[in-house]
Amino acid sequence: MRIRKRFLPRTISDGIATGFMTAIIPITFWFEVYVVIPGVHGIDSIYNWIHLGPALFLLFNISANMLATIMCETGCGTEIVNVPTNVNITSGQGSKTWHVCSTCEAVAPPRSWHCNTCGTCVLKRDHHCVFTGCCIGHKNHRYFILFVLHLFIATLYASILNNYFIWFVRGEDFRNWTSLVKIAFPLAMLVVDTSTKQYYLLVYLINMVGMFMTGVLLIYHGRLILSGTVVHERNFHDYNLGWLENIRMVLGKRWYLTWLSPFLQSELPHNGIDWDFIQKEAAKTK
Ligand SMILES: [Zn+2]
Ligand SMILES: [Zn+2]
Repeated sequence: MRIRKRFLPRTISDGIATGFMTAIIPITFWFEVYVVIPGVHGIDSIYNWIHLGPALFLLFNISANMLATIMCETGCGTEIVNVPTNVNITSGQGSKTWHVCSTCEAVAPPRSWHCNTCGTCVLKRDHHCVFTGCCIGHKNHRYFILFVLHLFIATLYASILNNYFIWFVRGEDFRNWTSLVKIAFPLAMLVVDTSTKQYYLLVYLINMVGMFMTGVLLIYHGRLILSGTVVHERNFHDYNLGWLENIRMVLGKRWYLTWLSPFLQSELPHNGIDWDFIQKEAAKTK
């Protein structure tokens, strides 16, 4: 993986969203491991240690995949792009063809698209993600989708524990109508009451919202990946090689191991530049 030179967020909205993720991941881990799990099982329970295994695995995969998404170089500028001699180069943006990017003043391959925030054309650009402050493209698509997958599993896991902890273990503190009002108006609840209980409710709410958001994102991006497309191309399926080959195109040749760690090598079968061949292969399978 080639490391990006400038990986800090470039806009205020990117900075706020990325900062929020950087803070909420360790806060949730601390809340589950030091408050919720001992609260559910008792301080001296062996189950506290049993939960620690999956909790650390999820924390590692979420943090490391997020970091890999941010650090990975996705731009066309650092690639040696050999333009085929037999293609027509169009002007302006056009993700299906070789084209000249007027901002980069360079020829860009099919499926690449210029991002004004990142200031470069990105290979097989999917979208710009505010929560990582960078574009998702050919090189970091793997890390992004596994970041979302592990986030969904972690928020689902945390939400199951949190619901039991808040409404049953600590039911006498939280099972009243004021808790429902405070959950409905999350910022107002901190103005009214800054006790520890209100912070518990805030982390509970963030995890519930996170579970629904990452669940929707996982279904949306998962369906795009399975059909061999990206966000920009959702209306055409010119690169659909079948679901297994499409997964390999994003997760690499050892796709079945990538959920274990972003450090596991899984070479991508395509270079992200020469898509004409893939387009012809996809046409044959139709
Ligand atoms: Zn460009
Ligand atoms: Zn971008």
